[in-house]
Amino acid sequence: MYSKKIFQGRLLTGLDKARLLKDELNIHTYEDLLKHYPFRYEDRSRLVTIISLTPTTSSVQLQGYVTKLEKIDKGKKKLVAQFKDQTGQLQLVWFHNFSWIIKKIRPNVLYRIWGKPIFLPQGPIQIMHPEVCFIEAYQKKKITYCLCIMLQKKLKRHQLDTKGIACLQKKLLGQLCTTIEETLPNYLLRRYQLFSLKEAFQNIHFPNDESVLRQARRRLKFEELFYIQLKLLKQKQIYSTKQNGKVFNDLSLFNAFYHHHLPFHLTDGQKQAIKEIYRDIRSGKQMNRLLQGDVGSGKTIVAFLAMLMVVSSKVQVAVMAPTEILAHQHFERFRVFAQHLNLNIALLTGSTKKKEREHTLYRLKVGLLPIVVGTHALLSDAVVFNELGFFIIDEQHRFGVAQRAGLLIKNQVYAPHILIMTATPIPRTLAMTFYGDLDLSTIYELPSGRKPIKTQHYYENFRLKVFQLIKEQLLLGRQVYIVYPLVEASAVLDYHNLMDGYTSVSKAFPGTPIGIIHGKMDGSAKEIEMKRFEKNETRILVATTVIEVGINVPNATVILIESAERFGLSQLHQLRGRVGRGSGQSYCILMTDYRLNKIGKKRMEVMVKTNNGFEIAELDLKLRGPGDLMGVQQSGLLNLKIADLSKDAGILEVARGIAKDIIQQDPNFQQPDHLVIHKEYTRLLASGGDWNRVG
Ligand code: ADP
Ligand code: MG
Repeated sequence: MYSKKIFQGRLLTGLDKARLLKDELNIHTYEDLLKHYPFRYEDRSRLVTIISLTPTTSSVQLQGYVTKLEKIDKGKKKLVAQFKDQTGQLQLVWFHNFSWIIKKIRPNVLYRIWGKPIFLPQGPIQIMHPEVCFIEAYQKKKITYCLCIMLQKKLKRHQLDTKGIACLQKKLLGQLCTTIEETLPNYLLRRYQLFSLKEAFQNIHFPNDESVLRQARRRLKFEELFYIQLKLLKQKQIYSTKQNGKVFNDLSLFNAFYHHHLPFHLTDGQKQAIKEIYRDIRSGKQMNRLLQGDVGSGKTIVAFLAMLMVVSSKVQVAVMAPTEILAHQHFERFRVFAQHLNLNIALLTGSTKKKEREHTLYRLKVGLLPIVVGTHALLSDAVVFNELGFFIIDEQHRFGVAQRAGLLIKNQVYAPHILIMTATPIPRTLAMTFYGDLDLSTIYELPSGRKPIKTQHYYENFRLKVFQLIKEQLLLGRQVYIVYPLVEASAVLDYHNLMDGYTSVSKAFPGTPIGIIHGKMDGSAKEIEMKRFEKNETRILVATTVIEVGINVPNATVILIESAERFGLSQLHQLRGRVGRGSGQSYCILMTDYRLNKIGKKRMEVMVKTNNGFEIAELDLKLRGPGDLMGVQQSGLLNLKIADLSKDAGILEVARGIAKDIIQQDPNFQQPDHLVIHKEYTRLLASGGDWNRVG
C-alpha cells in the first residue's frame, strides 16, 4: 500500500495535483504523503484575553464581538474592524478581497479569531488577516494543526495549501484504514506502550489533544530510528561474520617501541584504546573501529602503536588524511617514530612529484614499503599494495561505508583492518547514527601537565589590547595563528578580508616574519608555508581554516580567530586545539562583531567557559541541529522525517538497544514475531530511499 504512486490510486482527482505534490513537495507515494508530517501545531483549545497580549505574543486565539466595521479606500484598499472582549479592544485588518468578510461578520455575535497581534508604535494593537469563525464551529475540535511548509502560490492555486494537504491525508487515511500494516512486532508495541502505526498516523495528523499527539510522535520517531539502527547493526554483524580478518601475532616492533622509544607515559585512555585495537587485530575478524578523542588527546601515538602490531608481520599500513597539510604532518610525525625502528615510510599525495611517486608505487607493490601516508590519492587505482593489512583514516568528515568498501578492494585476499580517527569528539547520538556500524574507542582525558588554554572573547574595540598580548607572546619567543573565515558562499569577499587582515597584521607587527596560507594556494606552496612556520621561520601565520585539522606546532601559543561568530562551535574548538600543545600557557582569542545574535553570544560563552570537547559537541548539536555538524549534508540522514538527533537521544538509545538484541537473537528476522520486521526491512532495502544511504 505504501509504495503506491499518488496518481495511481483513486485518491486524487487529477494528475495535475499529483504532479505538483511530486515537484513541489517531493511527495510521490502514499507513504510520502502520510509521512509529510506537520511540524507545528496550533493549540486552539486555549483562549487568551486582549489585556494579556504582549509584543512577543505569537499567534493566539481571542473571543469577542466586532463593534464596528469600516472600509478605508484611500491609499490601499483596507477593511478595519474593531474587536472587543471583556478586557479591551484591538483592530482586525484586511487588505484586498474582503467582500466575503463584510458579508459574514455581524455585530453582537460572538466570534473566535486567530492571528498574531502586532504592536505598532502608535495606535491600537492590530491583527492582520485573522481567521474568523463562529464560536460553535470550534466547539468540537480541540487542537487543529498547522503544516509549516513554505507553500508556493502554485500549490495554493490548486488547493494544496495546509488545509488541502490535510484533506488529502484524511482521505488517504480513510481509504487505507484497514490496510495500513504494522511495521513493529506486537511485543514491542506492548512493552514500550507504543501506538500502532495506524493510530500514530491518525494522531499525528489529526490529534485530539496533546497527549495523543505526543504518543504518535514517539511511536513514529521510534520506528524511524529503530530501522536505521537495525540496518547499521546488521551491517556490523555482516562484517563480523563474513569479513574474515587476518590475525597478527608478532608484537616485536610494538614491544621494541613501547619499551624503548615511547616519548611519554600513555594516558589510561590511550592504553585502553590500544588494548581494544589489539583485541580486534587478534580476533580473526576484520576490525572496524572508530577512535574518538578530544583535540590533543593523543590519537596519533595510538595509531602508530597500532600500526606496529601489523607491520611486524611484514604487511603494509596506509594512513589517509583529509588534506595535504595534514598528510604531510602525519608523515613527519610518523617518520620520527619510525626512524627508531628503521622502518621505511613514504608520503603520497596529489602533489607528489612523478619520479618520487613512481618509486613509492613500486615499493608499495613489491612490499618494500611498510607504511604509506597520504591523501585520497591513496585510493587511486595506480596504488597497488603487496599486502595491505591495515588502513587508518584520519578524517574530518564522515567517511561512508561505500568509501570504506573502496579500501577493501586494495586487498583481494582478506579485508584489511580499519581504524578511523575523528578530529573532534562527536555527540553520542551522532556517533550512534553515523558510525553505528563501528566499534568505538574513546579517549576521554588529555595527557596530564597541560595548562588549560585561556579563552577570551573581545569585540573590535579591544583590538589594541589583543595585539598587545600577541606582542608579549612574540617577545617570549612564541608563535601566533590568526584565522579568518572562508565560506564558499562569500569566498571572494572572505579572500579580501584575509588579504586585508594580512596587510594590517604586517603593519601592526613590523619586522616580524609573517606567513600566509589559504585554500587557493597549491599543495606545495602550502607545504612550504607550513614548514616555515613549523621551523619558527615565520612567527605569525595568517590563515583560513586550512589549519583547522590536526596541525601540530607546540611553540604556537596564541590563536586569534577573526569573525568568530561565523564559525560553528565544534570548528572553534578544533581551531583552539592548534594551541596548548606545548608547555607554555596558551590563549585563544575570539574576535566578533558587536551585532551578535543570541546563538552567537551563547557560542562565545560556551567557548570561554569550557575546554571539554565532548561538552562542546553536545552543545553544538543543540544549538545548530545535526544538519550543520560533520558535513552530514550528503549522508541522507538529514532527511530524518520526524526524529531529531539533537533531541531524541533517549528514544535512540532504546531503539538501538532493542535492535541489538534482535540482531543477536534472530539475525535474519525469522521468528514469527519478527516477520513484520523482515517485511519492513526488505521493503526499505528495496525502496532505494534515504534509508539506503545510512551507514
Ligand atoms: P590528537 O588526538 O589531537 O591527534 P595528537 O596525537 O596530535 O593529538 O597529540 C597532541 C600532542 O600531545 C602531541 O604533541 C603529542 O606528542 C602529545 N602527547 C600525546 N600523548 C601524550 C601523553 N600520553 N603524554 C604527553 N604528551 C602526549
Ligand atoms: Mg590528530
